[in-house]
Amino acid sequence: MLPDRAKVLIVGGGVIGLTLARELSSAGQGDIVVLEKEDELGRHASGRNSGVLHAGIYYAPDSLKARSCLAGNRLMRAYCKERGIAVREAGKVIVARVEAEQPTLEELHRRASANGARVEFVDERQLADIEPSARTVGKALFSRDTAVVDPKVVLSALRADLEATGRVRIVTSCRFTGLAKPSTAETSLGPIAFQRFVNAGGAHCDRIARVFGLARDLRLIPFKGIYRKLRKGAAFPVNGNIYPVPDIRNPFLGVHFTCSAAGDVYLGPTAIPALGRENYGLFSGMDASALGIVVADAVLFFKNPAFRSVALTEPRKYLPAYFYRDAAQLVRSFDPSLFERAAKVGIRPQLVDWNTKQLIMDFRVEAADGSVHVLNPISPAFTSSMDLARTIAREHFGVRAAGVSAPEARPPPS
Ligand SMILES: Cc1cc2nc3c(=O)[nH]c(=O)nc-3n(C[C@H](O)[C@H](O)[C@H](O)COP(=O)(O)OP(=O)(O)OC[C@H]3O[C@@H](n4cnc5c(N)ncnc54)[C@H](O)[C@@H]3O)c2cc1C
Repeated sequence: MLPDRAKVLIVGGGVIGLTLARELSSAGQGDIVVLEKEDELGRHASGRNSGVLHAGIYYAPDSLKARSCLAGNRLMRAYCKERGIAVREAGKVIVARVEAEQPTLEELHRRASANGARVEFVDERQLADIEPSARTVGKALFSRDTAVVDPKVVLSALRADLEATGRVRIVTSCRFTGLAKPSTAETSLGPIAFQRFVNAGGAHCDRIARVFGLARDLRLIPFKGIYRKLRKGAAFPVNGNIYPVPDIRNPFLGVHFTCSAAGDVYLGPTAIPALGRENYGLFSGMDASALGIVVADAVLFFKNPAFRSVALTEPRKYLPAYFYRDAAQLVRSFDPSLFERAAKVGIRPQLVDWNTKQLIMDFRVEAADGSVHVLNPISPAFTSSMDLARTIAREHFGVRAAGVSAPEARPPPS
């Protein structure tokens, strides 16, 4: 049931909404209500991602991503260990497909070092010890702090913890639809008054922000991430993660191999321009906004060369031959018959600055009239969430020291 008032109203029951509720409730704040439009948590990005706890490699120094990723990785790992959630700590290698990718690998090493991430160059012999299936042309980069968790298990644990506090109420099947009055939200279950409002609406963050007069210059472009999966019992060793050198003009990391916390090997995700914020099938999840998205894609195609290269190369990955062609470049030998379609599909809700027509690379946190909005919560926001929640709690709610029971961020054991 929807209460008629809340001290803090959080719209969105993904990892961003839940970790912020956790941070605030741990600091003694009560009367927190989280609204989720779906009938269960994890229906969107937070439950459909790769579960990789990234380790601060790619992000421009001083960005919010760079500041929150490594600390978020440590907090999430500590939380998982405390809660008995499996963490696969096998690290990650970034391999070069051609010699010409070595300068970008050097740049990634520079960025990672500036961000405080532990990375090292490895040669082909060392690479074979870490990931026997991987191949590289020249050096590869090894990140030992990259790990993998099951995101749905994390969401369930967060939900159970929040409900056990008695300070947080999670109301599912309840959609925020607008403001009835400045401090009263209109929802599908009726009105609710609030003192503070948090927009953690993921793929709908821009629409919610517009209700508060923000995000006017932003457009949301959805990108579809499809996966394929190693057949059960197939012999193809992947210990952790095998990633390509990405095009660092874009926020996407390229199709990669990931061994999940449960030991299943996934390939993906793609970054195919999608036709809706929840367009998980070929046409399902499309709505009236599809035409607007197609027009925006067309504008970006002509104005933004980095987007154009994505638009030209990614859609053909619907075809297995093209999907596997990317994957085959990362490993010594590749047999497509060992892989099958995976049920998992995710949408990355990418914001574009419509004045410059540039994809926004960083997270954005904006505030207006007692409301706080987490905009552009793209990868690695799952990894960053616990640290981002601390920052938001401190900067926007005056929470001084986190009261969360997870141990303080500290370097993981080497
Ligand atoms: C394919 C893919 C792979 C990824 N891999 C990784 C990875 O390996 N590591 C990593 O760190 N990150 C990864 N990410 C990114 C990560 O999943 C997201 O950054 C993160 O989950 C964002 O969390 P969120 O809470 O903002 O969004 P969401 O999980 O989308 O949650 C927002 C919630 O708000 C609800 N909502 C929206 N509007 C309303 C409304 N009006 N009323 C009520 N509820 C509403 C939605 O139903 C949704 O449940 C990946 C993302 C994708 C798509």
